[in-house]
Amino acid sequence: MTDTLTPSTTPSTSAAPVYTVPQERKIVTAIPGPRSTELQQRRLAVVSGGVASALPVYIAKANGAILVDVDGNQFIDLGAGIGVTTIGHTDTSVVAAAVEQTQDFIHTLFTITPYEEYVRVCELLAEHTPGDFPKKSVLINSGAEAVENGVKIARKHTGRRAVAVLDHAYHGRTVLTMAMNYKAMPYATGYGPLASDVYHAPSSYPYHDGLSGADAAARTIAYLEKVVGPTDLACLVVEPIQGEGGFMVPAEGYFTALQTWCTANGVVMIADEIQSGMARTGKYYASEHFGWTPDLVLTAKGIAGGMPLAAVTGRAEIMDSSQPGGLGGTFGGNPVSCAAAIAVFESIENNDLLAEGVRIENTLRAGLGSLKEKYDIIGEIRGRGAMIAIELVQPGTGDTEKAPNAAAVSSIAAYAAQHGVLLLTAGTYGNVLRFLPSLAVSDALLNDALSVIDDAIAAL
Ligand SMILES: *Cc1c(COP(=O)(O)O)cnc(C)c1O
Repeated sequence: MTDTLTPSTTPSTSAAPVYTVPQERKIVTAIPGPRSTELQQRRLAVVSGGVASALPVYIAKANGAILVDVDGNQFIDLGAGIGVTTIGHTDTSVVAAAVEQTQDFIHTLFTITPYEEYVRVCELLAEHTPGDFPKKSVLINSGAEAVENGVKIARKHTGRRAVAVLDHAYHGRTVLTMAMNYKAMPYATGYGPLASDVYHAPSSYPYHDGLSGADAAARTIAYLEKVVGPTDLACLVVEPIQGEGGFMVPAEGYFTALQTWCTANGVVMIADEIQSGMARTGKYYASEHFGWTPDLVLTAKGIAGGMPLAAVTGRAEIMDSSQPGGLGGTFGGNPVSCAAAIAVFESIENNDLLAEGVRIENTLRAGLGSLKEKYDIIGEIRGRGAMIAIELVQPGTGDTEKAPNAAAVSSIAAYAAQHGVLLLTAGTYGNVLRFLPSLAVSDALLNDALSVIDDAIAAL
């Protein structure tokens, strides 16, 4: 295995990485090009209008940090499928592990006849999630399914009904998780009735609330005590760095204060690390940045190099409170996904990918810092590792009312796409640009993308 692991994924070590697609942006047609436009027409006839696409260019190939569309255009991918292809597109070790597993067996169903790959992924999760205590996991297919299972397990363990989440949260699109999101539109509008017993507590958003971690936690706790009542509260589910909400990093001490309160009140505190976990932020899990050890951790997006896999991992006594047969599902812990996940964990170790997250943060902060000097619509730069965002505000309001500037965000993202940079937006008010590249992205590509963004802002 080690032979195939080394060459592909190491952007900044001595051995030159081997890529099957040149790591550069290249625009050769209008965006979208003629073949993408044709495919878009076919799509409109058969794909539900409820499924949106940020950029309707159809992808033919992806490698490292580059997407190639069906017209031969190449994009610097600053989204990584929303933080999924964290170690790079079509990473050699992931491809090899998945191919080998498909040849051995593709499915048995772990709840009928188990296999080693599932157990190995759970061992790796126990080892790398925060906390030095016995941990167990259940594997499922998607982030929302991880959230649903985390809630089930917490309810079973506590015998309580209520679920609390934070303002600006995003937890998924299933019937339970749509009630846990902050934004009704587009996630919940018209899809009700919503699941009951879900409570939305105030969060920590230092750029806007100016509160210390202790004060923000006191505000959250006051809400939970008054509105929910701790004896009815099964779990508090939070994203260590909020994803769709706009990469908000809470004030220092916020999570540890909440965890202390949860522990004292028998509430299970769950870290939704679906976007922030798996080496995304320069640590295995973003909770570590806050010195916080959650009771349960949810993993999904980046875990298997693009293959669908998700997990709930946590304290053995909580994970074991479920009755046999209560957890699982047909495709949960699919062997091919598990083999890919094992390759991802090995790649993070063997190629020191936590350091790549730190490198990317330094490069982005330097480049975005210069842009912030130049343009007063950049209100704040925030995030950790390869999870960095800028919040855009109306000119001259960055130190005062911080009025959201969603129009600038849309224009910059559109300009970037036309010039070969795929940039994702986010934010409750649509005024955040997020940088969520794979760890394979080089400094040269990041700086090239930043120069496009500079031009985009200048062109506003
Ligand atoms: C993406 C995401 C989810 C939902 O994951 P799916 O795989 O899309 O169901 C839940 N929580 C967070 C923080 C996410 O980023």
